[in-house]
This record gives sequence, structure tokens and C-alpha cells, in this order.
Amino acid sequence: MMPGTSPTVAYVGLGSNLDDPIAQVRSALRELASLPQTQLAHASALYRSPPLGPANQPDYINAVAELHTTLSPVALLEALQNIEQAHGRDRHGEHWGPRTLDLDVLLYGQTILDGPRLRVPHPGLAARAFVLIPLAEIAPALQVPAHGPLSGLLAGLDAAGTERL
Ligand code: ATP
Ligand code: CA
Ligand code: CA
Repeated sequence: MMPGTSPTVAYVGLGSNLDDPIAQVRSALRELASLPQTQLAHASALYRSPPLGPANQPDYINAVAELHTTLSPVALLEALQNIEQAHGRDRHGEHWGPRTLDLDVLLYGQTILDGPRLRVPHPGLAARAFVLIPLAEIAPALQVPAHGPLSGLLAGLDAAGTERL
């Protein structure tokens, strides 16, 4: 940690549906825990959910991690992309196609970003059961920037299909 810089609470969404997804997500959680300038404060349980987009692909394993970090938002994104690469992520497939590991910056404190590389809160967050349900497990009282209380987002959600392992 840089002296005098207090960490930001950031949430990361994890997903995998290839090459032993449960093991992919578990090892990604360990890798998040060993990022520089970063502590893994909480990790949700693992969840199984049907795929978004193309349906002819395996179910996903998802989880959410709470990080306390002094990495900047873009430095955090780059660190996550490095972990994806180390897991053999192939970026040439179809949009929302199967992948060994997907790591999304869901939230970075109360920060709102709308840049070409990074949008925070993550644009899919408010509508995705496989994100909101594990997020609520570790941060039930969360206020989501631009969206309000997490409990309100959960109330409008179709939770069917997202199964806690
Ligand atoms: P989705 O973003 O809808 O969940 P995806 O995870 O499959 O889809 P990717 O192909 O992994 O999308 O990412 C495409 C680009 O999204 C990345 O290159 C990255 O620059 C950008 N991006 C924008 N905001 C974020 C964010 N909050 N977290 C991760 N990537 C982001
Ligand atoms: Ca994603
Ligand atoms: Ca992604």
C-alpha cells in the first residue's frame, strides 16, 4: 500500500464455463488475494447459472469478491485481464461465448466511470442475477452508485436459475 492512501472497496465478478470452471474460479480467487496493493476481504460462495447470450454453451460458475485496493480503477482492470490471460482466456470467440475465466470490475467504491476501456458500475450489474445474488451475500447493505440500494435491485430480479453450490 502507498503510505497515506486509504484503500477503496472494489467488487469483482468472476465467471467461467470451460476447463473445470469450479477450479478456474477457486484459483482466480487465490490470485486476486495475491494482487499487489490489494487484499481479498470477502469472497461469496460459488453459484451455477445458465449462460447469457449463446445458449449452446455450458452453464457458468460465478462468484463475487470484495477487494480492498489502492490500485487505480484501470490498474485493477489490467491486473484482472492479466489473470484472465494466465487462465488461457481466448478473446477471439463470439461475444458472450464460452470462456475459461471472465473477471469484471463491478464497482470501485462510489466511483462512476464511462470510458472506452472501463465502465463502472459494470453496465450489466443491475440486471444480472448471477452478479447481484453473490454480491448480496457479501455486501447486503451496499449502495450501488447510480442505482441505489442493492436490496432494491434484488427485489426486481428473476433469481430462477442461479443456484448456490
Ligand atoms: P460483459 O461486459 O457484458 O459482461 P464480457 O465480460 O464478455 O461482457 P469482455 O469481452 O470480457 O466482455 O470485455 C470487453 C471489454 O469490456 C474489455 O476489453 C474492457 O475494456 C471493457 N470493460 C468496460 N468496463 C468494464 C468493467 N467494468 N469490467 C471489465 N471490463 C470492462
Ligand atoms: Ca462479463
Ligand atoms: Ca469481462
